[in-house]
Amino acid sequence: MTERLHNFSAGPCTLPLSVLEEGQAEFVDYHGAGMSLIEMSHRGKHFVAVHDEAVDLVRTMFGVPDEFDVLFLQGGATLQFAMVPMNLLMSGQKAGYINSGTWAKGAIADAKHYGDVYTAWDGADCNYSRMPSTDEIEIQPDTRYLHLTSNETIGGIRFSDWPQVDVPLVGDMSSDYMSRPVPWERFDLVYGGAQKNLGPAGMALVIIRKSVARENNQEIGRYLRYDIQADKGSMFNTPPVFPIYMLGKVLKWMRDQGGVAAMERQADEKAGRLYGAIDQSDGYYRCPVDAGSRSVMNVVFRLPTEELEKVFLSGADAAGLLNLKGHRSVGGIRASIYNAMPLGGVDALTAFMSEFQSAHPA
Ligand SMILES: *Cc1c(COP(=O)(O)O)cnc(C)c1O
Repeated sequence: MTERLHNFSAGPCTLPLSVLEEGQAEFVDYHGAGMSLIEMSHRGKHFVAVHDEAVDLVRTMFGVPDEFDVLFLQGGATLQFAMVPMNLLMSGQKAGYINSGTWAKGAIADAKHYGDVYTAWDGADCNYSRMPSTDEIEIQPDTRYLHLTSNETIGGIRFSDWPQVDVPLVGDMSSDYMSRPVPWERFDLVYGGAQKNLGPAGMALVIIRKSVARENNQEIGRYLRYDIQADKGSMFNTPPVFPIYMLGKVLKWMRDQGGVAAMERQADEKAGRLYGAIDQSDGYYRCPVDAGSRSVMNVVFRLPTEELEKVFLSGADAAGLLNLKGHRSVGGIRASIYNAMPLGGVDALTAFMSEFQSAHPA
């Protein structure tokens, strides 16, 4: 077998080894069909079974109520930045957005093309080092929805408590999808790219309240309409067959691990060990994020100097700890520890951090 290294990439990112091996084993001849799954009709019995099972798994694993549709769409999370306001914002309505960092800013910029959009809380004032509490969020009259980014992948912050506001929530959950339960009664729509917690790139998982999908704007291209996507069961056009297939495998792996509850426990354990290593380093490693908003998916930290950060990254690389470089917009170190990152990967990183500190005193 080829050697597998510890991959801390923010996305696409590490996937469970058993999932990759299973896909490999059945890739060329899918269940005796004489062809691979990505060569057959998406309307044939093999793929329809894969598709329906993936929808069922999303529903059962994530506790999605019957009042919601589960859609597999293309364009990643980014297309949802535009699709959400295109569909949901009617004239006379506004949308509030929480500006929590890079990804929220993208969602805001796109939404502004389609309606009256305002910033309900601006994290720029604290350099995006935390999420707001409910009482800091300012909702204006005629607000159709409040958009939030549950986990800011670049800044390393997350909502540890969901905002308690009187308007429906829309959530970009790309980087902590299915790592904790969602209070569905407060959401009209959640979305995210699949390539962080759920599978390979090439797809967005959109979970939308059925009543919302039925009353959306109809004056837009058909692919972009949630009502059409829902009525056609994500088969309005050729769906992203390979990501859907792999998503099903990842979800079965998650189910075998104990589901979302187990993912949440493991995330707390992994993040706890990593933040513990940072906090117990006598200030050698520093996390620029407020304790109450620390992400359990993307752990960001700094070293005493940028010079040491460079040495750290090349040493980590040589030790088989890959893709730890922080996003180019913020620098520093970022360890992405999504659902499929084993505890052993985190332990290897904390061991390396401790050795590095001894070898390179500040
Ligand atoms: C990665 C990411 C995106 C972009 O996802 P794409 O699928 O590449 O469009 C959007 N929002 C968040 C929070 C992300 O982490």
